[in-house]
Amino acid sequence: MMRYRNGNICPACLTLYTNVIEHQKTEHHIYPKRFFKGRGGKIEMCRTCHNELEKLIPQKTQLAKERYWSILKRFFKKKNPKYKFPQLNMKDINN
Ligand SMILES: [Zn+2]
Ligand SMILES: [Zn+2]
Repeated sequence: MMRYRNGNICPACLTLYTNVIEHQKTEHHIYPKRFFKGRGGKIEMCRTCHNELEKLIPQKTQLAKERYWSILKRFFKKKNPKYKFPQLNMKDINN
């Protein structure tokens, strides 16, 4: 399972993780846990960005795996265009 980390800085808003709730480090399951039972990769980001990202992901409808990656990519493109989003191969998608 892939785990994408960016040290002590949120890769989306580039603020340092702290213990302040808004900037706490969280892990986003690339494929929603409610549908995929924790399978697939995770990516770290702060609580605020994580909340923003979750708003882009349908709550009740399950999407094809590729769609979750495109939502994530689009999110980073908007938040931090310089972020080098990991190159994906089919193995990552299907993991
Ligand atoms: Zn952030
Ligand atoms: Zn999440």
